[in-house]
Amino acid sequence: MEAVVCGAGIAGLSAAHFLSANGWDVTVVERAAGPRPEGYMIDFFGPGWQAAGQMGITGRIRELGYRVDRVDYVDGTGRSAAHLGSESFTKMVGDRLTSILRPDLELAIREALPAAVQLHYGTTVTGIAARAGAAGGRGGKVDVALSDGRQLTADLLVGADGIHSEIRSKVFGPESAYFRFLGFHVGAYSFRDGHLQDVPDNRYVITDTHGEAMFFYRLRDGSISVLGVHRTEQVERPADIRQEFKTRYRKLGWLCPQALEHCPEEFYYDQVAQIRMPRWSSGRVVLLGDAAGAVSLLAGQGASLAMAGAYVLADELAAHADVPSALAAFEERWRPRVAEHQKAGESAAKWFVPRTRRALLLRRLFLRLIRVPGVSRLVSGAVVGRTGAAV
Ligand SMILES: Cc1cc2nc3c(=O)[nH]c(=O)nc-3n(C[C@H](O)[C@H](O)[C@H](O)COP(=O)(O)OP(=O)(O)OC[C@H]3O[C@@H](n4cnc5c(N)ncnc54)[C@H](O)[C@@H]3O)c2cc1C
Repeated sequence: MEAVVCGAGIAGLSAAHFLSANGWDVTVVERAAGPRPEGYMIDFFGPGWQAAGQMGITGRIRELGYRVDRVDYVDGTGRSAAHLGSESFTKMVGDRLTSILRPDLELAIREALPAAVQLHYGTTVTGIAARAGAAGGRGGKVDVALSDGRQLTADLLVGADGIHSEIRSKVFGPESAYFRFLGFHVGAYSFRDGHLQDVPDNRYVITDTHGEAMFFYRLRDGSISVLGVHRTEQVERPADIRQEFKTRYRKLGWLCPQALEHCPEEFYYDQVAQIRMPRWSSGRVVLLGDAAGAVSLLAGQGASLAMAGAYVLADELAAHADVPSALAAFEERWRPRVAEHQKAGESAAKWFVPRTRRALLLRRLFLRLIRVPGVSRLVSGAVVGRTGAAV
């Protein structure tokens, strides 16, 4: 059986791994010229650990990952206004938790890719055509035209090309039909500045602000990973993202103005949104990861779900004699998990970066309360969700 996977992100590489391990011939095409360096920190926990275990990469993920002992919310002078320890959260997920840069997670998956997988950077899908099979959906194929001029005929095309998926647009119609904006924009980059010693090791430091917030984390090479999230009514990305970023965050004080001095010309910037689709497959084409059901950074487990979803897809393809039945079974098994996290992400939009000064004060109070053992268990449980459940 042959599969073409579009997108060498977390979902696409994971799908390539599991399909290849199950005996499929897999070709992965990725639009970017090489592995994408743009990164932000991911809290990696939940069902992705199990998938990572199946790939044999949990050790490598730990090696590349970071520990977070404490989250500090600081005022404009850098003084801690509130904080959160990681103990209760760690108690819920055990040691199956690490913070890791998105490109490093991708690296761990890519390094373990079976040698038989063909991975082509700087290539994309330019055309998709279904080939009818016998009645009952058996025997059909999909013709896939690539930007390098090749024409492949496959049993399955996996659209793992992210939240702005072109495979989705080509097969299921325009993004606007499935895109649910959550009211935020986000930007991220890393920078190095020998004068900035204010971010302690193993801590997230976040501005205690409303409307917008900046997150800082010191990486092991001494550079600082910075992420800005702001509320906005404007759905579209601004024309000049760098200018927008600088204007928005400078007023937050503390390290923000210096961090903004290092804002590169090109950096990760996007809308915070979810993808909600009534179905994930059509004939021999299936969507995976953010392309099918982005949960957003507010839900916190998109990467984890992308990896676990890839495992479930390959598992169902191995269990069924024909591809359409396997795709239906995949969706039936996996959709409830994604829906659960989408719901959590939508609720988080209400409190993730407080909207007003009053909401900010309430968060401070909440962070004090959360240190009470019983409350802390309840809240951690809500954040973690059903991490213990098997994929
Ligand atoms: C700021 C932020 C913080 C986050 N924090 C967390 C977290 O704490 N925990 C967590 O689990 N998740 C987190 N997530 C979510 C997580 O990053 C995503 O859910 C995950 O990366 C989705 O993986 P994916 O492979 O589906 O998509 P992507 O990572 O977007 O990968 C898609 C790939 O497809 C390629 N591509 C796009 N278009 C084409 C095309 N036309 N042809 C070929 N290739 C194409 C892209 O270049 C890319 O390599 C966060 C997300 C953000 C933005």
